[in-house]
Amino acid sequence: MRRTFVPDLVLDSNGAVSNVAVTFEDGRIVEVGPATEGERLPGRALAPGFVNDHSHAFQRGLRGRVEHRSSDHLHDDFWTWREKMYELAESMDPDSMQRTAERCYGEMLSAGYTSVTEFHYVHHRSDATHYDDLNALAKAVAEAAENVGIRLVLLPTAYARGGIPRFRDASPEAYFERVDALREWAADRAPVEVGVAAHSVRAVPRGWLESLAEYARIHSLPLHIHADEQPREIEESEEEHGIKPIELLAETGFLGPRTTVVHATHADENELDLLSKHDSSVCVCPTTEGNLGDGFLPAEGILKRGIRLSIGSDQHARLDPFEELRELETNARRLAGRRNVLVAEGETSPTPYLLRTGWQRDRLKPGAPADFVEIDLAPPEISDIEPEHLTSALVFGAGRDVVAASWVNGQCVYRGEA
Ligand SMILES: [Zn+2]
Repeated sequence: MRRTFVPDLVLDSNGAVSNVAVTFEDGRIVEVGPATEGERLPGRALAPGFVNDHSHAFQRGLRGRVEHRSSDHLHDDFWTWREKMYELAESMDPDSMQRTAERCYGEMLSAGYTSVTEFHYVHHRSDATHYDDLNALAKAVAEAAENVGIRLVLLPTAYARGGIPRFRDASPEAYFERVDALREWAADRAPVEVGVAAHSVRAVPRGWLESLAEYARIHSLPLHIHADEQPREIEESEEEHGIKPIELLAETGFLGPRTTVVHATHADENELDLLSKHDSSVCVCPTTEGNLGDGFLPAEGILKRGIRLSIGSDQHARLDPFEELRELETNARRLAGRRNVLVAEGETSPTPYLLRTGWQRDRLKPGAPADFVEIDLAPPEISDIEPEHLTSALVFGAGRDVVAASWVNGQCVYRGEA
């Protein structure tokens, strides 16, 4: 069915434009042009949907429940948080995984995320025996996404050592067998795409990294990995391999144009050069990295090298794309002692760069999936803002509450109470 919307404004990374109509059909935008006839959307702006490029849906269960020191951990950090996360992971079964993921993905849609990349590493029963369906937990996540209507990139994640037994596979072959079956299952489920991931260089040895890189290359799949989130992880890599995590990724063929390195918090100049050389991208998760006390990535070095950047809500301490983008810029400001830091060449404001990072595109355009959000222009945070300042006001002064509705594949999948 073909529909044309005529909102008050259409937002792109450069600002807000009036008198524009957006037409979509069969899940795709087919025309963006001068407003003529169509369904009026008074008091609304249309914007591309945000892409949440790094999620562990089950960790939504930690929200608010781990914000205290435990008596045996007066020093609380990423590693003590991880013990609590493992306890939660131990408790999941396919039903609770699906329920938690549905809640998490529904909340994402209400915040303006229309697409999620799920980094999924809870695979087997808690006693490490396999479910009859090897992909029972991965399918629970995929079905949750289908039920709420969010677009999903599902990354069954390889885990060889450490962690808890239910994360692990015996060999790369055992892992690929599961991924093959999942890809076949997902093939006719349009809003679900399957990629691959290695958990980290802590959890996956060199030979596995090489095998995963090869598999992803043969099948042209997205390939993700956590790297450089914690100084200890870098020390351990240097001890085991004599080089840093991203250097190891380069050596094993893991870096390429479809590779995303999640965090890169402590990446040094050479590691950034390697990411740039291999045209790999970085996913930053500011609210999680702040919550865990991880640190903050070298955002200016990433911008300067033209390394593509995306955002993720990771453990879902908070689900708000505007806040992720705001933290990205304001943390860069705190570090630099300057204002307007993440400004791309030829631009004067960080807002366009931040929005391209959050949307993974610059605007609604023909051929793109009809994934967009309706922004309510009435809330007090933005009701007095001139159109030319609206996108900056959204990034710096507003949040998820302005999202009135989210559309995926041309279908309305979330609408707030008017
Ligand atoms: Zn993560």
